[in-house]
Amino acid sequence: MVAKHCPICNRTSNVIRFYGEFCEKCAGEMLGEKIPVVIEIERCKKCGRIRTKEGMKEEDGKSLNLAAESKLKNYRIKLIEYSKDKALFDIVLDEGRQGRLSIEKEIGLEYKNITCESCYKRIGGYHEAVFQLRGDPERIERFVEKVGRYMEARGEFIARVDKVEGGLNVFISSKKSANAFISERDIAATASYTLMGLKSGKRIYKNTYAIRL
Ligand SMILES: [Zn+2]
Ligand SMILES: [Zn+2]
Repeated sequence: MVAKHCPICNRTSNVIRFYGEFCEKCAGEMLGEKIPVVIEIERCKKCGRIRTKEGMKEEDGKSLNLAAESKLKNYRIKLIEYSKDKALFDIVLDEGRQGRLSIEKEIGLEYKNITCESCYKRIGGYHEAVFQLRGDPERIERFVEKVGRYMEARGEFIARVDKVEGGLNVFISSKKSANAFISERDIAATASYTLMGLKSGKRIYKNTYAIRL
């Protein structure tokens, strides 16, 4: 086979793989020009998590890769290494008829301060359900600790705890998780529902569970 010569750098196909008419290095440089030099990563100033296409995540190599994927949609990318303000990616430019062409490229990371939805709700004391706990103070305390751990594990939270006559009122960010907590543990609770208002034409209720401990 006659050796090809790259029209840009004059290397021959004896020493370097070719991609079409060009050596893979020159082809990579040409096609890689469209890749942004800097990408913006949204980071929550409260919890430090970053926005990815799978939601807010603790920042690490895996989540940074996910965040970058939504900024570099046309490419398959793999994070090689990263530092405070830049990251090195392996970027697949093409996998078509002419073979696979990929380059290693350093991209700047520009962090944008945001407040994520869950921190926003926390700050506002957002809640959908209330546990009205009455009875033995120690049992109530242990119960609240359990609720706290359970909610934390599900990305939810206790918005507020009010001390009242005979016990505590615990405000919980998610109705669904409050329900799950009760049904998984077979807790005898008396539920009541308060209409809070309308949201997109649907009635929104706050669930209140009276629990004796
Ligand atoms: Zn070349
Ligand atoms: Zn946050």
